[in-house]
Amino acid sequence: MKKIQKLLVANRGEISLRIMRTAKEMGIKTVAVYSEADRDAPHVKYADEAVCLGPPPSNQSYLLMDKIIQACKELNVDAIHPGYGFLSENASFARKVTNAGIFFVGPSPEAIEVMGSKLAAKHAVSKYDIPMVPGTEDAISDIPAAKVKAQEIGYPILIKASAGGGGKGMRVVENEAEFEEQMQRAISEAQSAFGDGAVFIEKFITSPRHIEIQILGDQHGNVVHLFERECSVQRRHQKVVEEAPSAVVSDTMRQAMGEAAIKVAKACDYYGAGTVEFIVDEKLNFYFLEMNTRLQVEHPVTEMITGKDLVKEQILIAEGQPLGFTQEDLKIHGHAVEVRVYAEDPRNNFLPDIGNLQTYIRPQGSGIRVDDGFEQGMDIPIYYDPMIAKLITHADNREKAMDRMIRAIEEYQITGIETTLGFCKFVMEHEAFRSGEFDTKFVEKYFTPDKLDIQWTDLELKLLGAAAVELFEKQKNDLRKVKSMQDGTMPRTKWKNRLL
Ligand code: ADP
Ligand code: ADP
Ligand code: MG
Repeated sequence: MKKIQKLLVANRGEISLRIMRTAKEMGIKTVAVYSEADRDAPHVKYADEAVCLGPPPSNQSYLLMDKIIQACKELNVDAIHPGYGFLSENASFARKVTNAGIFFVGPSPEAIEVMGSKLAAKHAVSKYDIPMVPGTEDAISDIPAAKVKAQEIGYPILIKASAGGGGKGMRVVENEAEFEEQMQRAISEAQSAFGDGAVFIEKFITSPRHIEIQILGDQHGNVVHLFERECSVQRRHQKVVEEAPSAVVSDTMRQAMGEAAIKVAKACDYYGAGTVEFIVDEKLNFYFLEMNTRLQVEHPVTEMITGKDLVKEQILIAEGQPLGFTQEDLKIHGHAVEVRVYAEDPRNNFLPDIGNLQTYIRPQGSGIRVDDGFEQGMDIPIYYDPMIAKLITHADNREKAMDRMIRAIEEYQITGIETTLGFCKFVMEHEAFRSGEFDTKFVEKYFTPDKLDIQWTDLELKLLGAAAVELFEKQKNDLRKVKSMQDGTMPRTKWKNRLL
């Protein structure tokens, strides 16, 4: 079996570094790619070799398939890892890479194609008895017919772009009067964002949880699942806090979800690492949402609780090796939480806040992992996703993992830009999160910017008041003394003795 000797990571930032670290441990040489905006980035310095792809915008650099493949040929690269985002879910890239005789560290182009379309994915899994959110099975072309269907499903409904991703391309419709207008908007948004105007309808689950299953499959038909991750704390349908395992998933539910996820993988002859996303309603019924055919941003929480290096597994699978373990070998050890540290201002609607990382000091200590791609003094470029880092904590149980996260957030020092750290601390301390009784509405329900101001408890306020009174009395006293000193009523030496 051919072993990978040299791996090019077609990505940037934290995920590029994270992948190269594993490659180094496996004795594989690494090649980074970069845009002019990332010339001095840590991922470029870390790699054994690096290739500049072009100007900062992604379509002139990180998305240039042929240029990346050309670089592989020139540098004798035998494998490409696409990371997440960028070209990771691009079937034609996977095909080009394979046709050039280079290993693609990921699934087959066919699996990417099927799962890249939410509608095609639903069709593919429909034979496998997997619970699905009620909705239309095909793209909507006939508005009156779609209205009838929406009525049947019952409002509110969600219009979704079949090619959507990253939380984009979704519109909630509350009633029939809004239907047509929202539909037209959704179609034109989908067309401009994804180059594909196909949209469909799903029942809008009002207070759902987002729970997903990590799977690994080899090229010999073996598929296992590595349990669940809960990612219900989201803003703009995008995850900010994730954890494994979920606070509400029982062993029975885990097994049922795991089996469903494996069926989804088998429905498209999946190999590689993949994630099957489910939406879970208040009664803990779960429904298939979509499959992401790549390494997921939040994969570290799974690594922490299973002890598996998912990138290493991806590389071994790409080489054609069979999985080195079975479902029974996998166990959950403790609990892990991840927060995404974004260069965003939670006080201002989580809008990106780029600038210079004037201070950047990472937390340290037992059970803490920081996956990042920046150093102090660097600028956060405006061209890419504003995620600065992922902060992950691991402990024996959920409560300790959350407490460790609070400690880690307090140690993390970032100045020069606004970040989501304070918001993440708010989540870790919030009663709903701590009790496990939360859903994707968490931010909407509980968060307002004033929650980031220092919150004093009643006791603290009383103590503060008492301290202020004491200080005031002391100053009044001192003032009296100074006054009497000036009046000459108290000798200077005596005053001095009093002070000492
Ligand atoms: P995950 O599902 O792994 O949690 P996200 O949904 O946050 O990941 O997306 C991961 C990255 O990929 C983000 O940088 C996001 O902006 C990007 N991304 C995902 N899907 C798309 C897409 N269809 N088009 C553009 N960017 C995408
Ligand atoms: P993307 O490809 O953008 O990740 P998903 O289908 O995974 O799209 O949905 C992203 C998020 O949007 C989910 O995690 C959930 O919060 C919300 N969502 C998706 N579908 C529904 C639904 N039918 N009802 C309620 N919320 C939904
Ligand atoms: Mg998703």
